[in-house]
Amino acid sequence: MKRFDYIKSDDPYLVTNSGARIDAGALCEHGQAAVFVALFGNLLSQPDESTRRDTIMPRCVLAQLFGAIHAQILHEEGEAALQAFRDDTDSHVQASLTALQEMRAQARDCCEAGFRTGGSEHTCGRSEAAQ
Ligand SMILES: [Zn+2]
Repeated sequence: MKRFDYIKSDDPYLVTNSGARIDAGALCEHGQAAVFVALFGNLLSQPDESTRRDTIMPRCVLAQLFGAIHAQILHEEGEAALQAFRDDTDSHVQASLTALQEMRAQARDCCEAGFRTGGSEHTCGRSEAAQ
């Protein structure tokens, strides 16, 4: 992983929102499913041009990234700041898990049609009789 000290921020992409989904079709060299990460934001030089950047991040790269972030918070801000970040992350785990469980219970997590119709219509081959 590149050390951030050595990376110059030249017109950075300012991320204002994000979404993630485990992509079972994209495996890293360790055989783990990668993560599709969508970033929403704009270039610093183009504040009125919001765009979406789709990325695929191998899980091992994500682990490196999170490790580097945790280390920097610990190094620069101390234990309490790192614990606060971990607590914040855990609360997002719970919120996302609840949303995922609700979507599965409503048969909305298999395809876009299922998602948009509240589980009554599907383009994934799932029939209502199978529910
Ligand atoms: Zn479906």
